[in-house]
Parts: sequence; C-alpha cells; structure tokens
Amino acid sequence: MNVDHNCIFCKIVAGQIPSRKAYEDDEFLVFHDIAPWAPVHLLIIPKAHIATLSDIDPSQDAGMLGRMLALAPRLAREHGATNGFRTIINTGSDGGQEVYHLHMHVIGGPRPWAKG
Ligand code: AMP
Repeated sequence: MNVDHNCIFCKIVAGQIPSRKAYEDDEFLVFHDIAPWAPVHLLIIPKAHIATLSDIDPSQDAGMLGRMLALAPRLAREHGATNGFRTIINTGSDGGQEVYHLHMHVIGGPRPWAKG
C-alpha cells in the first residue's frame, strides 16, 4: 500500500496520530473532522495515500471512488444526518484542499451549521 510518511492522514491510518474513528475496513478509514462545520462532519479516506482527486488513475481507482461514495449515506445516517448531507472533495489549491491525502467530507445534521 502506498504510504507518505509525512502525511498527517497516513499517520492517522497508521495510528501514530489519534482520531475519533467512525468506521474502518481494509480499504477505508472514516473519522470525525477535528474542526466540524456541522453536527455531523466525517472524513472518508482511502488508507492508501493518493494526494488529490487529480492524482487518481481512472482505470485503477474508479471502483475505489465508487465504494468511497457508497459508504456515505449509511455513515451519515448512523451519525445523525437523517435529513440529508453534503459530500465534498476539495481538490488542489484552487479547490481549497488543505490536507493532501484524498478525502471526502460528509457533512450533515440539523441546521444551522457553522459553515456550508
Ligand atoms: P480539506 O480542506 O478538504 O483538505 O480538509 C481537510 C480537513 O481535515 C479539515 O476540515 C480539517 O479540519 C481536517 N483535519 C485536519 N487535521 C485533522 C485531524 N488530525 N483529525 C481530524 N481532522 C483533521
């Protein structure tokens, strides 16, 4: 599996930095965002290091991306986003990406939200 030893999310996957885990399987880790915008704010990440959505290989990674998106509804519901949620992937500097390890925000729960 591809790992970047300088990447904060790779360190979370490795257990070197703590996180509030919401779900884990062989391919993905899901944890609560440290600075939530809303009552539910999860980050779904592939365990393997891929810096951004622009770095995916469509012939290799389409299945993984589908499975990542497919995790969102159940996890959102289970954590209290029973009336809808947002899924966001920020990509690159103009996309507002701060952590360069592919991740999908799942943001929901009763409004008002701090942002979004
Ligand atoms: P983005 O702007 O899409 O790259 O979002 C990165 C997200 O990661 C932000 O919402 C941060 O609050 C969140 N974040 C950064 N460090 C941690 C951490 N150690 N644990 C949980 N969430 C984090």
